Amino acid sequence: MNFISTRGNEKVTGAQAVVRGIAGDGGLFVPEFFPAVTEDEIAELCAMDYAERAAFLLAKYFDEYDYDGLLSACREAYAKFEGEDPAPLLKMDNGMYMLELFHGPTCAFKDIALTVLPHLLKKGCELTGVKENILILTATSGDTGKAALEGFRDREGVKICVFYPEEGVSKMQRLQMVTTDGDNVNVVAVRGNFDDCQTAVKKIMNSAEKREELKGKGYLLSSANSINIGRLLPQVVYYFSAYCDLLSSEQIKMGQKVDFAVPTGNFGNILAGYYAKRMGLPVGTLLCASNKNCVLTDFFKNGSYNIKRPFFRTMSPSMDILVSSNLERLVFELAGRDAELTASRMHALSETGKYSVRAEELKEMRENFYAGCTSEADTVECIYDFFMDYGYPMDTHTGVAMSVARRYEAMREDDKDAEKRPLIVISTASPYKFPQDVLYALTGNDVKDSYKGVKRIHLLTAMKVPEVLKEIRYKPPRFKTVVPTDKIYDEVLKFLS
Ligand SMILES: *Cc1c(COP(=O)(O)O)cnc(C)c1O
Repeated sequence: MNFISTRGNEKVTGAQAVVRGIAGDGGLFVPEFFPAVTEDEIAELCAMDYAERAAFLLAKYFDEYDYDGLLSACREAYAKFEGEDPAPLLKMDNGMYMLELFHGPTCAFKDIALTVLPHLLKKGCELTGVKENILILTATSGDTGKAALEGFRDREGVKICVFYPEEGVSKMQRLQMVTTDGDNVNVVAVRGNFDDCQTAVKKIMNSAEKREELKGKGYLLSSANSINIGRLLPQVVYYFSAYCDLLSSEQIKMGQKVDFAVPTGNFGNILAGYYAKRMGLPVGTLLCASNKNCVLTDFFKNGSYNIKRPFFRTMSPSMDILVSSNLERLVFELAGRDAELTASRMHALSETGKYSVRAEELKEMRENFYAGCTSEADTVECIYDFFMDYGYPMDTHTGVAMSVARRYEAMREDDKDAEKRPLIVISTASPYKFPQDVLYALTGNDVKDSYKGVKRIHLLTAMKVPEVLKEIRYKPPRFKTVVPTDKIYDEVLKFLS
């Protein structure tokens, strides 16, 4: 299978797409077509464990990778998760389910892909004959950073440098990042918000001059952000896996449609669901849930993407994003894969801060997605209500999805013609990763100390505290550098010297 750029005629292999991260024309790599998964194959997947499901689906895209290598990489990756199943599906009530994706090494769903990406990259370097070391630059709103650091630390031939907004991550997220072990890692705080970080990193990635300079030092640039197709495709797996789990437990029949509610920031998580649908998974509606930064909700409402608006810091920091990178991949599909049109829209976005899609594209968006956003107060209330009703504590990002899910369900109940469909809410982080905000939602109490929050949530909910969060409590921070956005590249050079 080849991969093409959303902005031009560039065509590369899967290995090249993963190694380069972003196309030379600034576009994102997408598969040349969506490989079909038949009902028979879905039935086959049901008999497999998660790692086998992952290898089976990844092999459809990465067909030049050897299958046994993919399978052993997936086994190794998902063995790092706590518990038997890396993506357990919990039945709540009334056709509603939680898909828990936070049992990995850093307690957020980013682990699902970032535990597999190092293999895709290493093998990709072999397949493409890359001799240089790989330098991974990552902008993070909190969870990607730690997951990428854990995925790549102490991997031979790789260095990784993570940039996070100084004021834009939770205390626990920061602690996780700055205590990372390994000689090949670096973590830098940036004065600015996530969009500033992401834009500055993308600028380096897109600069031929800087790439050359780094090449002279023996490094090839790549990305662990979800602009890398190697981040996106492993996420397709949990949509199929959840569907199989519903089939296996006879909650649905083959072919029956299922809805998913997805807390969204950079549009990677939900785009993977759209890819799953295009591959043939019976997906009904994908609920695109946003926090107060409702740029995506407005886009799905009126077809105009406009980032000229205030940026809010919320208690779901991993979704505090205005420039949602992966939306480019959806817009490319909507435009009938017209790369020229996509390029001109993305150009307009960076020049004027906005672009619009045509009426028929908007119609197609509405056929596949339902978008909604929530206020901080709604999210808090939803977390509290859900705990009172089901005894289930959820994190603040999942709370956003649940809040939108409830609104959607109420809307469908009012609509007599709407068929009843199971709804799977994607639970993206452990509540212990955002202990202060979760404790506030559950009790109305504020605590200053993260671990006091952890302890109280534990006493209240009896939910197990992840070992990895206990371990870092007294670990001294290794990284303390704070820089303005225009000094990011200097930090990269310092790190390499
Ligand atoms: C990254 C993240 C999201 C949003 O995922 P995108 O792929 O950026 O849309 C939601 N919840 C949590 C906890 C995250 O870390």
